[in-house]
Amino acid sequence: MQNVSCDICKKKVDNPMTGRSFFYYAEHSVCESCKDNLELQVKSAVRTKDPYSFDWYSKFIGDSITKAIQKGKI
Ligand SMILES: [Zn+2]
Repeated sequence: MQNVSCDICKKKVDNPMTGRSFFYYAEHSVCESCKDNLELQVKSAVRTKDPYSFDWYSKFIGDSITKAIQKGKI
């Protein structure tokens, strides 16, 4: 059985299933609760971002995850 833990909070994901109990962002595996927090963070940043571009968006997600991994939380 595959062993997956969240790159951000380091918690082991029970019964890992991509797109359901864990998610890939910028090549990192992220658990559901960290994904929810990440999306909240990204959503509020996207709302105020002008001009908006997909490059900026991908980079923002990557940077947010890198920062979250360093802090151990989002
Ligand atoms: Zn997590």
